[in-house]
Amino acid sequence: MVKEDIRRFIIDNRKALGREEYVKLSSRIRERLNQIDQVKRGRCFLFYYPLKGEPDILPLVQSFLRDGKCVAFPVIEGKEIKAVKVNSLSNFRKGAFGVYEPSCGEHINEDSIDVVFVPGLAFDKDGFRIGFGKGFYDRFLRKVTAFKIGIAFDFQIFDKIPRDEWDVPVDIVVTPHHIFRRR
Ligand code: ADP
Ligand code: MG
Repeated sequence: MVKEDIRRFIIDNRKALGREEYVKLSSRIRERLNQIDQVKRGRCFLFYYPLKGEPDILPLVQSFLRDGKCVAFPVIEGKEIKAVKVNSLSNFRKGAFGVYEPSCGEHINEDSIDVVFVPGLAFDKDGFRIGFGKGFYDRFLRKVTAFKIGIAFDFQIFDKIPRDEWDVPVDIVVTPHHIFRRR
């Protein structure tokens, strides 16, 4: 399948996931994330704000902040993702492409991020990813040394996703039922 067919397939399937299932599976993903060494040790995280049925990782924000960790969210500036630090989930507004972004906050340097939670429409077992087709994460991920964690439901995992030369793979992919480490 080419990237565009996979995008279509996933968008249709995500719509079919019932609310109860979405809540339960998102919570499984969060439990798994909390067991990952890099997450336990990490001090500074780049989250994503779930869009169009992406797994809900927001409940982790409160507990990370309580633990004194640094929590940042992506803000789209031009063609780039910038990381903006937050102290709560209030003061978000819709930004580019309808994604919620912090409406204020300090920009943090890419180098200070320990872990990036990467959303996607699809991933393969080697960590390659398909996004909405604008390449924002590819441009961002090549700049960071952070541990990159792809997050998805199990039906979003493919054996092999078409790769372009600019695609940047994640280090592991976490689903409700599996953790795939990059071979
Ligand atoms: P996505 O990763 O969102 O699924 P693609 O991988 O198809 O989307 O990339 C979309 C576009 O982003 C590509 O056409 C490519 O030109 C652009 N792009 C991605 N990474 C870079 C980069 N590092 N430098 C310049 N352009 C890039
Ligand atoms: Mg890409």
